[in-house]
Amino acid sequence: MGWLRERRRAKLLAGPFPDKWRALLEEKVALYRRLPPKERDSLHDQLRVFAAERDWEGCGGLRVTDEMKVVISALACMLTLGRGVDEFDIVRTILVYPAAYRSRDEETDESGVVAVDREGREGEAWSHGAVVLSWKDVRRDASRLDGRNLVLHEFAHQLDMGDGVANGTPALSDVRLAERWKSVMTEAFERLKKGGAKRGEVLDLYGAEDESEFFAVATEAFFELPAELAQQHPGLYSILRDYYRRDPVISIGTLA
Ligand SMILES: [Zn+2]
Repeated sequence: MGWLRERRRAKLLAGPFPDKWRALLEEKVALYRRLPPKERDSLHDQLRVFAAERDWEGCGGLRVTDEMKVVISALACMLTLGRGVDEFDIVRTILVYPAAYRSRDEETDESGVVAVDREGREGEAWSHGAVVLSWKDVRRDASRLDGRNLVLHEFAHQLDMGDGVANGTPALSDVRLAERWKSVMTEAFERLKKGGAKRGEVLDLYGAEDESEFFAVATEAFFELPAELAQQHPGLYSILRDYYRRDPVISIGTLA
């Protein structure tokens, strides 16, 4: 990290975390309420850095508020709690629409756009460093833990694209993890594809679309429904645990 940036961050984190922001998180972000106190402190630091280092743009007449920045940043940083917020250096701009919006791109891959088409278009992760989100969907997903979370999904795509390609495999510096990744992810992906819409399946069937959607969908389940994921797909859970350097099942356990 450059010294200039280091100094900027130190200044940013010198003051206390705003009470108003803490109240917002407690009220609006279900995943936050589940975090143990020590992890909340790390999240506070990360989200302040994350929010300050991004360009925020309101679209479709929307004005980006502190609440939007705090909720989106908190959810994005859930993914980097274990890995460090620098993982998101490639994301420069976050565009926020009031609700599901009409996209200018018909389909994805050629232009490097990965779109969510589950219910209209809720969000997109662009390979050139921008993420597009519908605030209405962000807010709804933040309020409940049902294995679907637009921000987790889109930012998982960003991590995936950290090595330049959206192929369901983020940059893996650990050689052994990279080897395991291939076999574990392939097996879990095939299982979801073959199993179809099984009753009680924790993974959204949208993940059977391709490898990159699989990684995004598995990430949503890993953070929101970790116990169910660990039970139904233990191999997948453990590789995501090693990648994210987090063990959400244990975090929940320590709160009980
Ligand atoms: Zn997606």
